[in-house]
Amino acid sequence: MSAPIVRTRAELRAMTAGWRRAGETIGVVPTMGALHDGHLSLVARAKSTADRVIVTIFVNPKQFNNPEDLKNYPRTEHEDARKLERFGVDAIYVPDGAQMYPEGFATNVSVTRMTDILCGAHRAGHFDGVATVVAKLFLQTSADFAFFGEKDFQQLQVVRRMARDLDIPVEVIGCPTIREIDGLAMSSRNLLLSDRARARAATLYEVMEDMGDALSAGALVADLLSDARRRLDAAGFGEIDYLELRRNDTLDLLERAEVPARLFAAVWMAGVRLIDNIDVTPA
Ligand code: AMP
Repeated sequence: MSAPIVRTRAELRAMTAGWRRAGETIGVVPTMGALHDGHLSLVARAKSTADRVIVTIFVNPKQFNNPEDLKNYPRTEHEDARKLERFGVDAIYVPDGAQMYPEGFATNVSVTRMTDILCGAHRAGHFDGVATVVAKLFLQTSADFAFFGEKDFQQLQVVRRMARDLDIPVEVIGCPTIREIDGLAMSSRNLLLSDRARARAATLYEVMEDMGDALSAGALVADLLSDARRRLDAAGFGEIDYLELRRNDTLDLLERAEVPARLFAAVWMAGVRLIDNIDVTPA
C-alpha cells in the first residue's frame, strides 16, 4: 500500500490532529532520502513502536557545509516511496525548502560542547543545521517517538540533548548500524563511490574491528594508529578526518577503553567522506 506523500505543514497537521484525537501515538523517522536497508530498519522499528509512522525526506541545505556535497547528494523520491510500500507507513512527509525555511526564517538551534568534536570539528555549522531541522520536524510532526541510527552516533547524542534541553516531549530511540555483507556501513553516500572505490571501502570496517578487538583487550589507541593508517592508505583511502576512541555517553576522548566506549572514524575515499563507529566493550 503506498503511503500518502504530504508536502505541506498544513496537510501534515490535519493528519496528526486526527491521530491525536483518536489517542494514537506517532513515530517519526527523519531522513534525507536515497533510502537503503539502514533507513528501513528504523522504519520497521518505528512500526513496531508507534501506532502511526511518518517518514520524512528532506535534503536539509542547512546541514551541508559544502555546496558540491549538497548538489551531488542522491535524490530518489520515487524509489524511496516504492521501498516504503511494504512497511505500511502512514505518511511520507516531503517538505520543500520554502516549507521548512520560509522567507524571513532567522532562528538557529545550536547544541554546544558535544558539537565541537568529531564531525562538528570538520563540518562547520553541520550540527546547528541538524538540530534546527530536527527540532522543526519534532514540532511539525508532534511525534512521541523518533528513530535515529547509531551510524551517526554523534548526531543521535546531539538530537537527544536538544530534545531534552528544549523540553520537546519526544523519546529519541537509537537503532543499530546496518551494514553491507562486507561490513561497510550502509550510507546514501555509498552510491557516489565507483565500483573500485566501493570494493576497497570495506577495509575501514576491517581496520576498525581489529582496533576494537585490541582496545577491548586493553591496548592504547596511540599504539594502534600507525598500523591502521598504513592499512587505510594501502586500501586507497585519503585523508583521515578522525580515528578516535571516545566515551559512549559524554563523547570525551579516551586513550584506552576503560569505560563503555566507541571507536569513531571519518575517512575520505575517492572524494566521498565515509563515517563509521563501533562499540568497544572493555574486557
Ligand atoms: P540520512 O538520510 O543519512 O540523514 O539518515 C537518516 C537516518 O538513518 C539517520 O538517523 C541515520 O543515522 C540513519 N542511518 C543511516 N545509515 C544507517 C545505517 N547504515 N544503519 C542504521 N541507521 C542508519
